Amino acid sequence: MKVAILCIGDELLKGAVINTNLAYMGQRLLEHGIMPELCMEMPDTPQDVVKTLQYAMDQADFIITSGGLGPTADDLTKQSIAEYLQMPLEMHPEAEKAVRDRWLSLKRGELPYHFLNQALIPRGAKPFLNAYGSAPGIHIKTQGENPKQIFMLPGPPSELHPMFDNQLLPELLKNLDARLHTKLFHIAGVPESRVEERTLPIIEAHPGLSVAYCAAPEFVKLFLKTEDPACLESAKQAVQKEFAKELLHDNVKSVSAEVILLLKEKRSSLALAESCTGGLISQLITDNPGASSVFPGGIVSYANEAKAELLGVPEEILIRYGAVSSQCADAMLEGTMCQFHTNCGISVTGIAGPDGGTAEKPVGLVFIGVKCAGQKLVKEYHFRGSREQVRARTAATALNTLRRMLNGEVVE
Ligand code: ATP
Ligand code: MG
Repeated sequence: MKVAILCIGDELLKGAVINTNLAYMGQRLLEHGIMPELCMEMPDTPQDVVKTLQYAMDQADFIITSGGLGPTADDLTKQSIAEYLQMPLEMHPEAEKAVRDRWLSLKRGELPYHFLNQALIPRGAKPFLNAYGSAPGIHIKTQGENPKQIFMLPGPPSELHPMFDNQLLPELLKNLDARLHTKLFHIAGVPESRVEERTLPIIEAHPGLSVAYCAAPEFVKLFLKTEDPACLESAKQAVQKEFAKELLHDNVKSVSAEVILLLKEKRSSLALAESCTGGLISQLITDNPGASSVFPGGIVSYANEAKAELLGVPEEILIRYGAVSSQCADAMLEGTMCQFHTNCGISVTGIAGPDGGTAEKPVGLVFIGVKCAGQKLVKEYHFRGSREQVRARTAATALNTLRRMLNGEVVE
């Protein structure tokens, strides 16, 4: 299956908006074993849209566009593509009703005529009704010797994501080669090169198995693909055996979600004390709906006074060892668990940079304390990278350490 993605909008080329639609669609396609042939960004002008569409139609059979479906003068995707394909635009009754209803729900008075233009659909095409905005998506199947399918989606991510999942993907998957069998694993706390090394014997033992890796701070995604269902089943079992301690549960897509699942299972609760991560771990935890049942709260104690007053870190520790020390991380850990009456805790204190490092305490030095299930570990780390990377690595390491303890692993 050959797929091309075209992201339309001046703002993307100017760097004013990050192309998260592409990241979203790319990830969702990969979960189904589909890797796009090409992805392009282009300005809002009809010439650019048509030029890239022509190119994409030469390279792929399924073309997805994002953006430019709205009612304003700069939204020209639909008009440009319809004109190029010589498909006249017609008012689509179902789309018209949806667009009118949408306008009524906005309670903004009389309907401006140009707003209804959103319900104009190329003759013979199908609208994807928009449950979260006004512009319908559009699904075109071209005729002829070499038929193509074009999917146009609105730009706002809150509209594109559900439309992609609920309307586009089912249509696309109808055309997927039925012989393809896939599986995605999330492996936490193992560098990508080690994942590759440890997967090699599994690949060698399974001819016809194709493997892809994708590294993020918190885990490595391992993707298996084969035409033989028995081969996939056997490879899955081999991966599950090899990475028994590092695999997240199926359907869990982040280490924080895994931690919450385990905390619930163990009827435990978590308190946080964050310094250099400034609340990042709290955010990762509360990104998960239902986190409140295991997470009463955390304290962002950035200044020494906050560490002393809110967490009870003894002044002597701050003077003698400093705020970035294992002694301080330990006291922060005990302090927050006591404040929130929990049986698990995480504390972090370190130097995220780019300034503030010394020869003795360089940028990237972080102490992480984790306590859970009868274990306590306060450990020194030296993370490399920018301020953002140091913070992301600190959060990932802290959460993964807690995950391992919750799984009953002895962590050193
Ligand atoms: P609207 O009806 O809101 O105008 P539209 O389909 O015309 O929708 P655009 O006007 O191209 O879409 O973009 C609307 C908003 O969606 C932009 O302001 C931008 O913030 C966001 N957006 C567009 N494309 C992307 C993208 N590729 N990734 C992330 N956000 C995007
Ligand atoms: Mg627009």
